[in-house]
Amino acid sequence: MYADTRRTAGSGHAVQAWMSRFHDQVCVHHSLWIGRAVESPSYQFDLTDLPEIVHAQRRHSRLLRKYDPWLIGACYQNCSKFWHALVQHQYRIGERADRLLRLCPRDRQVRPWDPRRYAAVYPEIVENMSLFASSYWRGLAMSADDHQFAQFRAEFARRLPQESPLRTSARPWFLRQLKITAQEIHAAAERSRLPGVT
Ligand SMILES: [Zn+2]
Repeated sequence: MYADTRRTAGSGHAVQAWMSRFHDQVCVHHSLWIGRAVESPSYQFDLTDLPEIVHAQRRHSRLLRKYDPWLIGACYQNCSKFWHALVQHQYRIGERADRLLRLCPRDRQVRPWDPRRYAAVYPEIVENMSLFASSYWRGLAMSADDHQFAQFRAEFARRLPQESPLRTSARPWFLRQLKITAQEIHAAAERSRLPGVT
């Protein structure tokens, strides 16, 4: 995490390249979004009224201490990709729309690349990361056994319940993405075990 000295009056935090630092989305000291889509300090914004986003960063950091950082990096990248696609497929989570509205009460037309869009879905991404980081749940997600896969789907729905069902046409896509996401994270975890990879 950044030391307080990194924050200069009025100009926010030093800006980072988020792809190389995707484990630091929030400065928990200042309750400030410093992560994805922050291209200059003016894009940083206050999260004081959105403690669940700050909490998600604490949880993200705990996952990093518990698991191999390579695994958590793969979890972040794949869950992030998955969740932004899910949102495009109208996977509706009530809290997310509410968060987005609280982040920008006067502006309902948030631009697609606005960092507030990334912040609004960050708690779901971290919840999903903790599920895929577990080799037990990953194994069930990748299983060819229908009963095992159903167990994984039930756990996903318990942790990340949706407000309304996906369109019929989006359901096969959703199930396929669950498996693909698990497989990509699993493959990255396996690669990290090869000699010479640090
Ligand atoms: Zn700070």
